Amino acid sequence: MRPSKIIAFDCDSTLSGIEGIDEMARLRGAACFAEIDAMTRDAMEGRISLDSIFARRLDIVRPTRVESALIGQLYIKHVEPTALAALAVLRAAGWTPLIISGGYTQAIEPLATFLGIDRVEAVGLRFDLAGNYAGYEATHPASQRGGKPRIIHALREELKPEKIVMVGDGASDLETKGSADVFVGFGRYVSRPAVKAGADQFVDSLAEVASLLIGEKR
Ligand SMILES: [Mg+2]
Repeated sequence: MRPSKIIAFDCDSTLSGIEGIDEMARLRGAACFAEIDAMTRDAMEGRISLDSIFARRLDIVRPTRVESALIGQLYIKHVEPTALAALAVLRAAGWTPLIISGGYTQAIEPLATFLGIDRVEAVGLRFDLAGNYAGYEATHPASQRGGKPRIIHALREELKPEKIVMVGDGASDLETKGSADVFVGFGRYVSRPAVKAGADQFVDSLAEVASLLIGEKR
């Protein structure tokens, strides 16, 4: 069945309180964490483009298969506290949730399963037979500037929904404003002034997203 109303969530600092790449970097020590954390922040606040750091962060951290699974468990441990209840309310009102993330598919999938979300648009990591890092899906739009709006556009073509709402905390999420019918900025973990100023709506919990959408006229 084709979903008529799609709600797309960012993952890092939205569905879960952590930034996956930063936690992967933390496994490499404090200096590595500080370096990667600064790069992630610059990108999420729009000071540098995501493209310019995407490969670099991974080249520095080189997450293994085992570490990616570990981060998957961390995403679940730090799941946004109102996420499960909000998703239940949204589903009951006919919304189909999915994830659009510039994070890594193998790390996000455990959280998606936990939340009962079937579809994840994120960047796949590649591993060699021993499970060592061997690159990433560089052609995936989520790894590029302007990628999230392109994913929204592709979903519109593929699924022809009545409506697509995007929820997220970062500059790459804000880019979906205008492509998504509504862009909801998310400030529970990090409240970014540019995102707050540009968003159609701004909330501090996923429960608020549910009341915002269910309260509206259908
Ligand atoms: Mg985010």
